[in-house]
Amino acid sequence: MKKIFLIVLDGLGDRPNSELHGRTALQASYRPNLNKLVREGQGGMMHPVSPGYRTGSDTSHLSLLGYDPEEFYTGRGPFEAMGLGMTVLGGDVAFRANFATVDNDGVVQDRRAGRITIGTDRLAESLSFSVDGVDFFVKAGVEHRAALVMRGEGLSDQITDSDPHEPGLKVKEVKALSAEAKFTSDVLNKYLAIARKKLRENDINVQREMEGKAPANELLVRGAGQAPSLKPFRDLFGMNAGCISGIPMITGICRLVGMTSVPVEGATGRLDSNFQAKFEAAYKALEEFDFLIMNIKATDVAGHDGDALAKRDAIQRIDAAMGGIRKILDNTVVCVTGDHSTPCAMKDHSGDPLPILFNTNGIRRDHARLFDEISCTNGTYHITSGDVMKILLQLSDRAEKYGA
Ligand code: ZN
Ligand code: ZN
Repeated sequence: MKKIFLIVLDGLGDRPNSELHGRTALQASYRPNLNKLVREGQGGMMHPVSPGYRTGSDTSHLSLLGYDPEEFYTGRGPFEAMGLGMTVLGGDVAFRANFATVDNDGVVQDRRAGRITIGTDRLAESLSFSVDGVDFFVKAGVEHRAALVMRGEGLSDQITDSDPHEPGLKVKEVKALSAEAKFTSDVLNKYLAIARKKLRENDINVQREMEGKAPANELLVRGAGQAPSLKPFRDLFGMNAGCISGIPMITGICRLVGMTSVPVEGATGRLDSNFQAKFEAAYKALEEFDFLIMNIKATDVAGHDGDALAKRDAIQRIDAAMGGIRKILDNTVVCVTGDHSTPCAMKDHSGDPLPILFNTNGIRRDHARLFDEISCTNGTYHITSGDVMKILLQLSDRAEKYGA
């Protein structure tokens, strides 16, 4: 049995760019290592989740790891909380939240609390406490944004928002949408009442009022989502697994399925990430783990920026950093793909399929010659992201025989 190294170049797929004379960022890049891997291995095209789906990184990564998002995805709340670096466990109920300003009658004056920037970390900290056996955790994001996580027995996400979604309206009481959710709405209302009092008394808000600024005296919550209880990756596939990622949401998903996160010095989740350090850390981690997933975010960042040259350059630097990969091909199946396309011309995710390659010593070869969106259509596979784990198990000689 071989080990598995799954490399996810986030938002890798592209469309033709006029700056690159009608080529995709991959086509325009100098990528000798990726080309050699596909030429001496197998290529193909992969649809994220299902043909025609425009997916987020959360649903795509779940699917790539063998967890069907159509069965397990429960909304953005838990994944946004993970994105802020919060720990989210199966069964937790998570919300997107805003620090807002309300008047004495509870009417929302400003949904962004005067675009507060300073002190939200300390406000969030003061809002992390327990009520009736339920632990509440708040973490601040950019400006007025935050997330709330509830952890305890018998929680449900079948509840309404406290956020009225418009200024001039009163903060809403949270209501249960089912009988089982009554405990959750009750304890959340109780928590929000205590939180309100704490926010009013907080030094930061006292100071803001003295300076004539809008105080952050209300935490508006919306979009309750219960984190799915997923079968651990090790139980599902019989492999102990590690994850290398510079972005907290992907690290959070990997932790949710019981993987170990491997920290890498210099991995930033941005264009300036140290790709060399990530690959070196990956080779080392593969001595310990049977399965390793590595996310590189730079390609998606450049896609969202609409910067085709930056996306091409990121691919070139990633390719240059993977020169050492041949040394692991004896005992490892390497797969390189993305989680979805982020065309520079669109500055957002599209539903276009993207190239995928597999290589390990002894693998059969096919007619995919170059690693890009066009040449890989000549390859072996035309699959969805949900097929990737099955193919990896097969190529690593881990697949169970189907039948006698
Ligand atoms: Zn992504
Ligand atoms: Zn993206």
